Amino acid sequence: KLYNQVQDLKGSIRVYCRVRPFLPGQPNKLSSVDHFEEGNITILTPSRYGKEGRKSFSFNKVFGPYASQEEVFVDTQPLIRSVLDGYNVCIFAYGQTGSGKTFTMSGPKELTEKSRGVNYRALNDLFLLSAQRKETFSYNVLVQMIEIYNEQVRDLLVSDEIRNSTQNGVNVPDANLVPVSSTSDVIELMNIGQKNRAVGATALNDRSSRSHSCLTVHVQGRDLTSGNTLRGCMHLVDLAGSERVDKSEVTGDRLKEAQHINKSLSALGDVIASLAQKNSHVPYRNSKLTQLLQDSLGGQAKTLMFVHISPEMDAVGETISTLKFAERVA
Ligand code: ADP
Ligand code: MG
Repeated sequence: KLYNQVQDLKGSIRVYCRVRPFLPGQPNKLSSVDHFEEGNITILTPSRYGKEGRKSFSFNKVFGPYASQEEVFVDTQPLIRSVLDGYNVCIFAYGQTGSGKTFTMSGPKELTEKSRGVNYRALNDLFLLSAQRKETFSYNVLVQMIEIYNEQVRDLLVSDEIRNSTQNGVNVPDANLVPVSSTSDVIELMNIGQKNRAVGATALNDRSSRSHSCLTVHVQGRDLTSGNTLRGCMHLVDLAGSERVDKSEVTGDRLKEAQHINKSLSALGDVIASLAQKNSHVPYRNSKLTQLLQDSLGGQAKTLMFVHISPEMDAVGETISTLKFAERVA
C-alpha cells in the first residue's frame, strides 16, 4: 500500500536499468557489475571513485545481461494499452555508445522473431489490441520518424516509395506523417528511415550514435457508439550516446556535436527530474528534443526510460555517470 502511494507521488516515470552482456571476442574481461537484484545494482568502483569500492543504485527494475527481449518488453505492454486509451507515452533508451540502446529499441543487426526490440513489439501489440477492440472503436494509426542532430530536426520519412503522407507532423509541422495499418507497414517505413539516417555517415563517422532518433506513433480513435474521438501518441526514442568527450581531445565538428548532445541530454534530465519532483516550472524549451516531446512528458503522460550500461571495468566511469543521471530522474 505504502509502496503504491510512493509510486503515485512519483507520477508515472519508470526507470529500468539494463546491463549488456560481454560480447563475443571479449574473453575474461573484468566486469564492473558486482551484483544486481530486482531493482538494485551495485558497481565496483576503483579507488579514484571513492574509498568504499562499491556504489549501489536503485531503479524500478534491473535487467541482467541474460534478460531476453521479451522479458524486457513485458512491463511496456500496459503503456501500449494506454496509448489506445488516449494517453501519451514516451519510451527512451539512454546510455553510452555501445551499451545496447539500439539493441533494446530495434534489436541486433541480424533480426529474428525472438531478437526483435521494443519498437516492433510495441507496434505489434498496438495493432493486436486495436483489432480486439474493432467492434467498439475504430483507430487510425500514423507514423513519423525524425532524427535530431546538432539541434536540427531532420525528417527520415522522405522517399518516393512513401505514399499518402501528409505534412503535419507531431510538434514538427513539416514532418511527414504516414498512415499505417499493420506491423509490416511500419517495418517498411523503419527500413526507409534507417536508410535515410545512414546518408552522410561513413565507416569512421557513424552519425547514428551522435543523433537522437525518434519514431512517433500517432493514434486517433473513434468510439463507434458515442462518436467521441480520442488521440494518443507514443514516442520511441533511441538517444544519442551519453559519453562525455574529453574537450582536450576533440575539436571542430566533434566538439560541436558533443556540446549539442550534452545540452539536449541535460535538458531531458532537467525536464524529467523536475516532473518527478512535481516542480511547477518544467523547462521544456531548452532543447529540440524536449520541445518535440513536450506534451508526452508530464501531465497524464507516461514515461519509461531504459538506461543501459556496458559491463566492462574499462567503462566504469561512464557507467557511474549513466547511473547517476538515471537515479536523478527515477
Ligand atoms: P548502442 O546503440 O547503445 O550504441 P548497440 O545496441 O549497437 O549499442 O549494442 C552494441 C553491440 O552490443 C551490438 O553488437 C549489439 O548487438 C550488442 N548487444 C547490445 N545489447 C545486447 C544484449 N542485451 N544481448 C546481446 N547483444 C547485445
Ligand atoms: Mg545505437
